[in-house]
Formats: sequence, C-alpha cells, structure tokens
Amino acid sequence: LRAELLERQERRESSARTYANTLPVAPVHAAGAVVTGADGRTYLDCLSGAGTLALGHNHPATVAALQSVLASGAPLHTLDMITPQKDAFCGELLRRLPGGLRDTARLHFCSPAGTDAVEAALKLAQHATGRRGIVAFTGAYHGMTLGASAVSGPSRMSGAVGADAVPVTRLPYPYGMRCPFGTGDGEESGKLSARLLESLVTDPSSGVGTPAAVILEVVQGEGGVVEGPDGWLREVRRITEEHGIVLVVDEVQTGVGRTGHYWACERAGVTPDVLVTSKAVGGGLPLALIAYRPDLDTWRPGHHAGTFRGNTLAMVAGEITLRAVAEEQLAERALKLGERIRRGLREIAAADPSVGEVRGRGLMIGVELVDPDGAPDRNGVPPGDPARARAVRAACVERGLILELGGRGDTVVRLLPPLVLTDEQADSVVERLASAVEGTR
Ligand code: PMP
Repeated sequence: LRAELLERQERRESSARTYANTLPVAPVHAAGAVVTGADGRTYLDCLSGAGTLALGHNHPATVAALQSVLASGAPLHTLDMITPQKDAFCGELLRRLPGGLRDTARLHFCSPAGTDAVEAALKLAQHATGRRGIVAFTGAYHGMTLGASAVSGPSRMSGAVGADAVPVTRLPYPYGMRCPFGTGDGEESGKLSARLLESLVTDPSSGVGTPAAVILEVVQGEGGVVEGPDGWLREVRRITEEHGIVLVVDEVQTGVGRTGHYWACERAGVTPDVLVTSKAVGGGLPLALIAYRPDLDTWRPGHHAGTFRGNTLAMVAGEITLRAVAEEQLAERALKLGERIRRGLREIAAADPSVGEVRGRGLMIGVELVDPDGAPDRNGVPPGDPARARAVRAACVERGLILELGGRGDTVVRLLPPLVLTDEQADSVVERLASAVEGTR
C-alpha cells in the first residue's frame, strides 16, 4: 500500500511538494508521538504536523470532544458568526494571552493559516498607523502569501515572490553562532541589531523613517532554531513603544507552550501590540488569528475577511489544547524535556566536530551541522553542511525518527516533538539521532 500511495502521489501532485519529497512515509495511524506508516513501520514524530500537535496525535480528550460536538448537530462552519464553541475558545485564549493583552485584547480570526494571520497583522498595523513601511529580520519565516513572504528572509522556503509587495527594511537577526556583526556573541549582536533599528528610525537620512510595524520571531523556527536574546527583544520593545511603531510578534511556531513559556515573548517580559498565532492554537485543526491592543482596532468589516474563519471543530480542539497546556503545565514539561534532549545531543556534539551547535528553547530544538574542514566565516565558525544534514535526516527516517531541516542553508536538523513526548521517547530520540549522526560521518 505504501508504495502504491507514494507512486500515485508522485504522478498526481505538484513538484512543489515539500515534506513528501523527504519523508517517504504514508501515515495511516497515529497516537501521541508515534506514527504508523502504511507499511506497518512506526516512527517517533518529531515534526508533529510542523508543530501543530502540542498534545500529540489523537489525544483522547481532543478526540472525545470532537466526537461529542459532531454528534451534537452543531454547525461545523459558520463564517465568523458566534457559536458557543467559538465563545469558549475566545474566553480560554484571552485568559492565556501574555501580560498586557490578557483578557483585554481584540481577536481577529483569519483564513486558517499562519501566513494569513501575518497578512492581517501587517494590514492592521498599516491601517492603524497610516504608514506603510515594515521592518523585518534576516532569516525570518512568516509564510507564503505575498505580504508574508515579503517580510521573510530569502531562504530554503523561498519562492521570494513577495519581495516587492510591501516596503520592507531588513535588519540582521541576532544569530549568536553566525553573528551578523562578526562578534560571535548573541547578546552583543542583539544590542547592535537594536541599535541599528533605533538609528534607522530616528535618523531621517536613513530614508526609512518611522515604519508601521516591526515583525519578528522570538525564536526563528524555519530559519534554523535561532534564538533572539531577551535583551534584544526588550530593546526592540522599548524603541517601538517610544516611536509608536506596532510590534508584531509571530508566535505561530513558538506559541502555546513549545518554548517553555506559554508564549515565547513572556520570558523577556515583553508584550507585543499584535500577537500572531496559528499551528498549535487549533489543536491540530486549521485555525489562525491575531490578538491585538484594542486601540489598534481601527479597521472595518471587509478589511480582512475570508470564507473559512469559524471552524467549529478547530475551536473545540483549540480550546482543549489551550486549557491542557496550562492545566497540565506542558510548557514547564517542554522546558525540562528540551533540556534533557539537548544535554544528550551535546554529548554527541562534544565528540564530533561536524556538529557545530545544539541549541533551542523548550521543545524547539536544532542541531547545526558544519563542515569542519571548510573555510571558517568571520566568527571563526566552519560553513554549514547541507549534504550532511540531508544525510542525517534520511538516516533518522531509516531509524524511525521523523524530523525536518531548517536554517539559512538547510544545515540545521530541527525537532518539534509534541509536548506530551514521554521521557523514554525523549531518550530514544537522542539515541536515534546520535546513531544517525554517527552513521553518516
Ligand atoms: N510564521 C512562522 C513563525 C512559521 O513558522 C510559519 C510556518 N512554519 C508561518 C508563519 C506560516 O504558517 P502557515 O504555514 O500556517 O501559513
């Protein structure tokens, strides 16, 4: 069956398929962190629907709630009309939002994908400020629609088709290992990146002036699990606040417990003006929205509409997930498990010069593979090794471990396991990855 499914897919579907090209798995069953393929093989799923499945596959509470709402005769799709399920979801989300947005934010439901919520955030910022410019960061990934790809850095996911859709100024993201300023230090590059923002905004001769918004990821996911330092985030917050610039924090991948906080921005004590969320917020069903300061709510019906913005099943699965992450302290669990996995991976790194760095926050984990014999960059770091990263990914799949690549040059092996991964599964992830690294040396 597996061969048959894969063969028909090869004939029928687009050459722009992504995961299908690198993960030759035809999943037929899934529970928690374990996926079973059509050939009967089982895999530990450290991709979990690109980070959507915080509670893992088919969590019993989610399945029961979905069965119950299906049996109840509730309408499954209501555009953006209110339903009891949507009302419950909104109440739960508002309770969980960071700092100044908690309980007070306005919510706008979007077409159910992260990229559309990014579009909404940019449009809202432009509308509320009457300005057009957007500041974004190198290595960013915000989605595939024109505006969202315009604020993404050209990268592996680069149709880069949106390049001219929005007037974007791109600043260096404070990537410690490959510091854009050559300091080799994340904290220091954070300070320099923030200072650059301030000078662009305050110096009229920069030609940038005051933008409508700054958009950023607290931890870049697709960009290679690169963490912005807390000091940088706080400085960006101070500068945007002082100049009336809308700070948009894209928590599509980092949100809902993954990084060890409910929202990644909370560790630095920063509340954005607009928080973008999708993926895990829908509990595995399609949902995306922005939560923003009420005074930004200047737009009118029709400014950002869309047919599929009120899926009852997504509201139900989302509410269950939001509540479980809080009540079962899954963010804390992500923090502990992430440390456990990184500790194991660092033991491999210590003995292998081709493992350049093991990094991440909570259960957002990255391993950057380098060519130790290549010419070092100006931080003294050897070049990334995409061929090796691809080989490690393939070796992981052979060993029953599903994961993905990321990073500026596809040189980072990335893990986004469900937050309900068990300790034993975490240790098994380390063993399989260690064996894959060793086996491809
Ligand atoms: N923002 C971030 C930070 C993401 O990681 C992604 C998806 N990987 C997106 C936006 C786009 O989300 P979607 O694929 O649902 O459009």
